Amino acid sequence: MTLRVIAIDGPAASGKSSTAGLVARRLGWAHLDSGALYRAVTLAVLDNLREQGAGSGTSWPPQQIVALAEDLPVRLVLVDDIYRPEVAGVDVAQAIRSERVTQRVSAVAAIPEVRHWVNVQQREAVLSHPRGVVVDGRDIGTVVFPDAPLKVFLTASPEERARRRLAERGGSRTPDPIEVGREADVLAARDRADSTRRVAPLKAAADAVVLDTTRLGLEEQVGQVVALARERLPG
Ligand code: C5P
Repeated sequence: MTLRVIAIDGPAASGKSSTAGLVARRLGWAHLDSGALYRAVTLAVLDNLREQGAGSGTSWPPQQIVALAEDLPVRLVLVDDIYRPEVAGVDVAQAIRSERVTQRVSAVAAIPEVRHWVNVQQREAVLSHPRGVVVDGRDIGTVVFPDAPLKVFLTASPEERARRRLAERGGSRTPDPIEVGREADVLAARDRADSTRRVAPLKAAADAVVLDTTRLGLEEQVGQVVALARERLPG
């Protein structure tokens, strides 16, 4: 049986979540943003666990992180076909976008035990959904759903991604180049951490369709993914 899942991967601010959300809506499927789950675990850790060690080598014991995620619990709740992150029964969709979470999420996501726990949540969600799920992240096509019938890898130039991120935060679409350069550096640092980690690094699956969205509008990229989905997942 064909797995009813579409994997959308790519670097930070490449438009994965916006694209995945709109593709899901067009197909009548659900949308799962795996980054939101890593962020929710990070938020829970920052609010509840004391770091061990000092300086840049600070960390949290992996077993404690997983136990915390289980106990609070950290989970995804399906509301109107969108998996929303919750911590201890509270919706954290806004709270997980804070700067302090963004700064630490790659370190938490590099812990194998955390990745295993997150992957179990994602697989349970997809297997229990009656129609299908569009999942976006960094390792969805390579590790979490290697059998996905459609894998898309979205890219865009660092400057374009920085402009999109600044616009999302309410800035102008033609911001000061210095500000764009600074944001591009921040995104590049997170991409470097995500691409060079030992477990499940950010990379395109060998059979992924690579879409460079630098010069594509959101509507166009959504249209292309929906067309591919209809071809590969008829019915
Ligand atoms: O997509 P977003 O930028 O919200 O993801 C936050 C972080 O979560 C990424 O920088 C990455 O460290 C981690 N992540 C991951 N694997 C995924 C999704 C996100 O490691 N599938």
